[in-house]
Amino acid sequence: MVRTTRVPAAQPRSAARARSVARVLLTVLLVGLIGLTAGGCGKEGSPPGKGPAADRLPHYEIAQGFRLPDSPTWNRAKKRGYFVVGVKEDQPYLGQRDPATGVYSGFDIEIARMMSASLGLDPQKIRFRTIASANRETALQNGQIDYYVGTYTINDNRKKLVGFAGPYYMAGQSLLVRRDENDIHGPEDLAGRRVCSAAGSTPYQRIKSEYPKAVLVAYDTYSVCVDNLLTYQVDAVTTDDAILIGYAAKAPDELKVVGRPFSKEPYGIGVPRDDNALRFAMDDALEAREKNGDWKRAYEATLGLSGVPAPQPPPIDRYPAS
Ligand code: GLU
Repeated sequence: MVRTTRVPAAQPRSAARARSVARVLLTVLLVGLIGLTAGGCGKEGSPPGKGPAADRLPHYEIAQGFRLPDSPTWNRAKKRGYFVVGVKEDQPYLGQRDPATGVYSGFDIEIARMMSASLGLDPQKIRFRTIASANRETALQNGQIDYYVGTYTINDNRKKLVGFAGPYYMAGQSLLVRRDENDIHGPEDLAGRRVCSAAGSTPYQRIKSEYPKAVLVAYDTYSVCVDNLLTYQVDAVTTDDAILIGYAAKAPDELKVVGRPFSKEPYGIGVPRDDNALRFAMDDALEAREKNGDWKRAYEATLGLSGVPAPQPPPIDRYPAS
């Protein structure tokens, strides 16, 4: 959902400026509304292909008699009867929470559900917890969540703190700008321009270290960045293409993704650092779901709705326990 709380109390100097501010406010409200209704697609009169297609989502068979006694995380979840999974709640087609029903949907949510089913626990019983990019490692380290599925790039720095199953998807860093922006085509055009990203994310870090002339602004979430873009507080939002394409698809008259992706962001499932049994079981589960078509069906009913056909999933990186 795009929040409206950061809309500034603008003092327009002319009627034209007032009209443009009014248009932006309307857009922000509209985007918020789209977010609110995203879970309600398929109802009469709602636009096609705007939210996850619940009727086309695969049904994941729960593995019967599955046991993973070497995994402390699995043992705890089994005793409790469900997994607690960290996710995002404001990333269209990936991880989105319907504020009216509290129901989560999107490709990452489906990955979380298939893992639960493969590990013998009912995916319908998962408790989802929204965790921002900057808080993922701590949430896994202090046992607040069992695993994390939310556009989480696997890299060596993070591997010192958490474990990663996967990757299950390959994204790349890109740029989102307003439709009326003609001067930003790639990260080299960001010098002196205000660019927004999420604290604790790899795209934030990359702009900071490789494009120091950009004026970097950080918030907890990308939806707040998008608010700021729509209200002319920043000139661009940067993160993974998969995330940005979702925001652009929700407000195609106002926003566009520009240029080519300029990094590789392999998405992994975050697990507690030392729970290798859980990590390897998830690697096996992902492989099986890719083979039996569930991965592709889940993609097509969620992220695929933003217009990008299902790619080949990247090979699983089953790195040794350390
Ligand atoms: N994939 C990037 C990361 O893990 C950006 C998306 C996000 O912040 O979740 O940092």
